[in-house]
Amino acid sequence: MKVKIEHLGCKLNQAECEDWRAGLAEMGYVSVSGDDADIYILNTCSVTSIADAKSRQKIRHARKTMPDAVIVAVGCSDKEALQKCGADYSFDNVEKQELIQKLVDLGVVHPDASIPDNGIRTRSMVAIQSGCPHFCTYCIVPYVRGKSVSVAPDTVIDQINKRVASGYKEIVITGTEVGLYHSNSVNLQTLLERILAECSVERLRISSLQPFEINEKLLKLYQDNVNLCRHFHISAQSGSDRILDMMNRHYDRDTYVEKIGLIRSMLPDATVTTDMIVGFPGETDVDFADTLSLVDDAGFLKVHTFIFSARKGTAAFDFKDRVPAPVAKERSAILREFAEKRSEDVKKEFIGHHADVLFEQKEKNGLLSGYSKEYIRVFMPCDESFINRIVPVKIKKLHADGVYADPAL
Ligand code: SF4
Repeated sequence: MKVKIEHLGCKLNQAECEDWRAGLAEMGYVSVSGDDADIYILNTCSVTSIADAKSRQKIRHARKTMPDAVIVAVGCSDKEALQKCGADYSFDNVEKQELIQKLVDLGVVHPDASIPDNGIRTRSMVAIQSGCPHFCTYCIVPYVRGKSVSVAPDTVIDQINKRVASGYKEIVITGTEVGLYHSNSVNLQTLLERILAECSVERLRISSLQPFEINEKLLKLYQDNVNLCRHFHISAQSGSDRILDMMNRHYDRDTYVEKIGLIRSMLPDATVTTDMIVGFPGETDVDFADTLSLVDDAGFLKVHTFIFSARKGTAAFDFKDRVPAPVAKERSAILREFAEKRSEDVKKEFIGHHADVLFEQKEKNGLLSGYSKEYIRVFMPCDESFINRIVPVKIKKLHADGVYADPAL
């Protein structure tokens, strides 16, 4: 039996999909990416109205392209709306915690599908936490996910050990807000210490952190453990203090820059990626210029740029001074182009250096691609036997959205 599992939205949704894939693989289900699936599961997102619409569109599309499959929609989008679009079953965020069991109870999933999963395994997401109490004014997540709930440390360790035993080389620790992890007396720092001591994972990556979660103690752990990936994703969202305040982000630009400086001083080889929102209500040309100058100062490896979209139910939905769509679109294009140039500067600094790359796939042009510890995308001419291996390479030049490398001698 074949199952196709997709997600929209955040890394937590992605991590949940990995859990379901792993759970279904244990029952004998084969994960496919084409339209030949017997079961299709979509983990939906409603962080913006656009994401909501996309969730419905994907279910409609799945119904058309997989007419005989059982279509299952789960997550943040409205259950009834998804069923109207063609989902056979839909489950909300509470129900999806028991998704596999529910599908077994409904007879959709059979515990002994008994066809071995022989898919290639490279990176795997492990969710350690869900929910968020921060209430950023543009974000619906605290309303749909609720307060922070953490997975027990023993369960996290067990999941990681199982993934490593089944061949995964890199584990990515994810959650809605990973830094909020707290289970009994274990916080993120002590959980990481336990993982490093009790799991033989070759690479451990944290999906994202808030600026106020970066501190010397955490960075010292990175200094002492080479298998912690030298890459930090820290959402900035804006370079303007006025806009950060309106977003209710709990930090200002100086704090953000100071934390980047701390990373650079303690881990000079680390890279930083970020998210930025343009066109937030009331954003002026001066605010936008502050965002551009933060991108210039911080030297991000990658900036994920989003245009503000008003989400009903959030505080920002009612904010005045909406930025006209053409202005927001133009700012987005300017930011993308500028961030791309700065990213090239960052990647150029790695030319001539060695890196360890986990190769993941073969590209259309015949090159293999994968990621370095610093999350730089690396392309290299080599045969497919290198996939799912961590290979030392020497970076030669910029290439596509990453760099081109040769095997290190
Ligand atoms: S920190 Fe802000 S953006 Fe992130 S999930 Fe919480 S409310 Fe949403």
